[in-house]
Amino acid sequence: MVYQIRLKFDTWLKQATVQGSSLPDSQRQFLDGGTVLPLSGFETVGNHLRLTFGKDGAGDQIFYKGRNTWFVYEPAVELLRNGQVVDPQTRESEVSAYTMRIELDTWLKQSTAQGSSLPDDQRQLVRAGTSLPVNSFTVVGTFHLQVALGVDERGQQVSFKGKNTWFIYRPVVELLKNDEAVVVPPPPIRGPKYSLAFLEDSLLKRSTAQGSMLPDGDKHFVARGTSLPIQRYEVADASHWRVLLGLDANGKQVLVKGRTTWFAYRPAVELLKDGLPVEKSLVGRTVVLDPGHGEFSSAGVNDPGAVNRRLNRNERDEVRKQANIIQRVLGDKGATVRIIENNTSLSLRAIGAQARGADCFVSLHLNAVNQQVQGHEVFVANPPTTADVRLANAVNQALDGSFADGDVPNRGVKQRRLAVFEGVPTATAAILTEAFFIDSVTSAGTLDRWNDAAARAIAQGIEKFLTS
Ligand SMILES: [Zn+2]
Repeated sequence: MVYQIRLKFDTWLKQATVQGSSLPDSQRQFLDGGTVLPLSGFETVGNHLRLTFGKDGAGDQIFYKGRNTWFVYEPAVELLRNGQVVDPQTRESEVSAYTMRIELDTWLKQSTAQGSSLPDDQRQLVRAGTSLPVNSFTVVGTFHLQVALGVDERGQQVSFKGKNTWFIYRPVVELLKNDEAVVVPPPPIRGPKYSLAFLEDSLLKRSTAQGSMLPDGDKHFVARGTSLPIQRYEVADASHWRVLLGLDANGKQVLVKGRTTWFAYRPAVELLKDGLPVEKSLVGRTVVLDPGHGEFSSAGVNDPGAVNRRLNRNERDEVRKQANIIQRVLGDKGATVRIIENNTSLSLRAIGAQARGADCFVSLHLNAVNQQVQGHEVFVANPPTTADVRLANAVNQALDGSFADGDVPNRGVKQRRLAVFEGVPTATAAILTEAFFIDSVTSAGTLDRWNDAAARAIAQGIEKFLTS
């Protein structure tokens, strides 16, 4: 809708609501009667109108003396809407019934299909924080509103791409009437309800970085016992879920610091489906873990594997910890995880043979060379089976995502003839992991953190292998 003013007689535009004759020239502009000017907005101020000029026919903004906002004595002008004279006071009753506030970046759409799947002429991106006037709305299906956009505060019909009727994803908007939220009946909840339960005090984070490294705006404290509805979750890395927050009991999108997407530290939370721990994706699957070393030599010395003398730590003990973590993580999902104990004087080949009947066999090791090299690598037999390679790639990829950038470079998947592989039945996928170089680690804290991250990554890779 286009508003204009027409001057009924010669008059002043003014920077104040006083008599034009009393103002200095810099604060007044004389105009001839009959002049018509486009408006982008106006409001009544006493017996004056405060005008904001719009653009002329050539698209140029109209200014007088560098200003586009002026007062005019109301009796001197007529207000026109689409060329018809209207009373400025009637505008109050013509404003749109509702305001729709966009709470998250989203699409206005010409159908209820996903915005990302629509061609550009059938969607319009609207940013969080935008408010749009709405004349009427209809609830469509479970998750959409069809809205008829209205007239904005400048009196102009709001439209996008020539259309003023659009669909919008309901959970991301709030409808207001006279600044109060309009209660729209909540959509029926269909399908399972997922939630994220906090087993301990923890953080929601905007990235997988350590909470202490993040600015306050990028983290949010969540107390133990809190449960948040979620719409979707996915594995972000070995230690984190990435979750899309869901709808509360009133069908309204839950936001944390105005956002829906957050990372949660996996050990601190439990994912629930209809109130129960998420599906046990690994029921019926068997994993055999071989934490390396720990056997006694003929001289009666227990083999510690690679060592870090500075920290007085060794491979044997660390990979045993890895095995426990992997067993717990995969066991929680229903897998049967067997750990081959050390000190049993089994040959490497005999250790491999214990994998019989299992879906996969993972021999856990840490590397050492010159206290300088760092990196992770995964070995497969030479030649490997297809399943060996698939398992190795999944674990390698997970390891690649589990350390801080550059700390532990990816040395890749390598083929090697190793005695432990020779005992493993061909039907069982087998790998040997060297998660990092223990001799190059300079602090106990880093060693603990990397060992934990490595174990979770290996578990994640195994899970991926078993479920895809
Ligand atoms: Zn080793």
